Amino acid sequence: MSLASVGEAIWVLGIVAWYVIRYSFERRAKRARIVKDKNSLLDKVGLASALFGLAIFPVFYVISGIPEAADFPVHLWTVILGGGIFLSALVLFRITHKSLGKNWSITLQIREQHCLVRTGPYALVRHPMYTSFLLMVSGQFFLLANWFVGLLGLLGFAILFFLRVDKEEEMMLDKFGQQYRSYMGTSKRIIPFVY
Ligand code: SAH
Repeated sequence: MSLASVGEAIWVLGIVAWYVIRYSFERRAKRARIVKDKNSLLDKVGLASALFGLAIFPVFYVISGIPEAADFPVHLWTVILGGGIFLSALVLFRITHKSLGKNWSITLQIREQHCLVRTGPYALVRHPMYTSFLLMVSGQFFLLANWFVGLLGLLGFAILFFLRVDKEEEMMLDKFGQQYRSYMGTSKRIIPFVY
């Protein structure tokens, strides 16, 4: 088995693990009733872009090897680095689901008895789940070792993030008012102490 195939196999395992984590929490969260739904066409476009850049096109690449011209050399260090970053993304992804509990939703929604979470990773950043997506994008870049696939992942993430983040914070301000405003004063968006 070549190193390139090892990187691809780790990526496939990572995506399966990502889905298993999401599915188990999704089932639990869905039991809490939705009281406000800010779902929109733009948000769906964001979700579809992330799905395309982080799953659909990379799977096509793993199967077909297209676009081969954008491949870069695979080394042991690129596979280890990519695997390590992807693993840290999965760990953070699981922690954010655990911290959010029944407050989680795939789109912008407020659930019955919604409470503002400020613990764990949420103490440092307001959107640690999106931080985990950014880590996934970086892990994907090194594991699949292809410029095009790597940049497409970054683009998919950026479309989802920028179409959503202002609306999400507006919704939270609407619901939690001063409490969220003061939270904004003590936390960053996705990169601790930076942004
Ligand atoms: N942006 C967050 C959560 C993504 S899940 C993150 O990246 O970690 C999206 C849902 O989480 C939104 O519909 C919103 O209702 C809820 N949410 C976002 N931040 C929250 C917080 N600090 N406490 C409770 N719920 C939150």
